Amino acid sequence: MRPARLPVVSEDTRAVDIAVVGAGITGLSIAYHLGMAGFTRVAIYERETIGSGASGIAPGGVRRQWSTPVSCAMSDDSFRFYRTMNQALEPEQPAIFRECGYLFLAHSMEAQTELASEVEVQRRFSIPSRMIEARDVVRIVPGLVVDSVLAASFCAEDGFFDDPWSVIVAFAGAARRQGVPVIRGRVAGLKPDGSGWRLAFARGGDVLADQVVIAAGSDSVDLLAAFGIELPIRPEPRHLFFSDPVADRICDPLVVSNEKQFAVKQLSDGQFLTSYLTAGREGSAGTPEAWKAHIAELASELLPALLDVRLTHLVKGYYDMTPDHQPIVGLVPGLNGMWVAAGLSGHGFMMAPAIGRAVASLIGDGEPEWYVRELSPARFGNGTLTAEARVI
Ligand SMILES: Cc1cc2nc3c(=O)[nH]c(=O)nc-3n(C[C@H](O)[C@H](O)[C@H](O)COP(=O)(O)OP(=O)(O)OC[C@H]3O[C@@H](n4cnc5c(N)ncnc54)[C@H](O)[C@@H]3O)c2cc1C
Repeated sequence: MRPARLPVVSEDTRAVDIAVVGAGITGLSIAYHLGMAGFTRVAIYERETIGSGASGIAPGGVRRQWSTPVSCAMSDDSFRFYRTMNQALEPEQPAIFRECGYLFLAHSMEAQTELASEVEVQRRFSIPSRMIEARDVVRIVPGLVVDSVLAASFCAEDGFFDDPWSVIVAFAGAARRQGVPVIRGRVAGLKPDGSGWRLAFARGGDVLADQVVIAAGSDSVDLLAAFGIELPIRPEPRHLFFSDPVADRICDPLVVSNEKQFAVKQLSDGQFLTSYLTAGREGSAGTPEAWKAHIAELASELLPALLDVRLTHLVKGYYDMTPDHQPIVGLVPGLNGMWVAAGLSGHGFMMAPAIGRAVASLIGDGEPEWYVRELSPARFGNGTLTAEARVI
């Protein structure tokens, strides 16, 4: 339930040290961490309200099962923050994180080998994931039919926030207490001005900032295009089907089959969340009714109990995808004092704590974690990209 009183203020400030563009979870975490690092004259500029982009759609999944060291390290840092976030952010309404587990199914030897090698990477970061046999899969989700399952990877500590919106409000509230307001206004243009930047608003008026952090999701591309910078971010649609709450507990972990492009989970209020992962994406035309039929087919093969559940609403949103499925974080090449944190590629909710801390550290001339170097906007075009494979 969204609280009626959102922490958004509308008065302008005339000059700031750091302007953050975008009050999604990325911009809010950056603002909070800048405040924590001691920066004082910081403001967030948001064209709508907090969480009005992809952040307000994400169902709040947080996991550490990934294929690359970068994602494992970044998710591990974020997970540690999220585990104790109520102490750090002191929200009015505590956020509740449920460690329900994520289960990735393998239906072929190839998929099993891939999951096993990813678990090896994860174990290097002390992430408690493991490979399990099909008979153990049934112990975790008794209703799963494992005739086609060879093995799975499982991390019991992966999980979901009961109410992801409470996390967004918590970051916004903590940032505000650090003195960082959210100011409503669509940034229509950025121009160099002296040693800083002038942000022009669509409604008229402007503000001068020494430094700017662009955290505007896919719209970051347009803001930087004026400088001849082509951020390689493209929006990719995702569709989630939800049911009304169901009393019986049937599927607590998030169960994912990348091979069958299927995901299902029962949220803590009893609602089912399920997806045909390629729905609406390039090369996969179709209608919501056709995707539902496909989900029913997969349910009859893997989780027949889902056939009795009526999927009542469909939510559509966009991932801001990069070529290697990793965020773009760092100084924009050739533009002094212009930073970017965008292209979260479908995992920005769970990575927000690490990204916020990284940007605050970069701006403060600190020593960011090793993986932040790998996220630099300068990495594209030099042929050394390592793509994150475990995007769902
Ligand atoms: C269906 C779906 C499910 C997902 N599930 C998960 C999940 O379980 N776990 C997970 O970690 N991630 C998940 N994600 C991904 C996650 O939602 C995003 O990666 C994350 O929210 C990105 O946050 P952001 O702040 O970078 O971008 P956004 O949330 O898109 O925020 C950008 C903000 O910038 C503002 N803005 C844009 N242009 C301007 C401008 N010119 N001036 C001022 N403001 C501007 C927008 O209004 C918006 O509020 C999911 C995404 C979708 C679509």
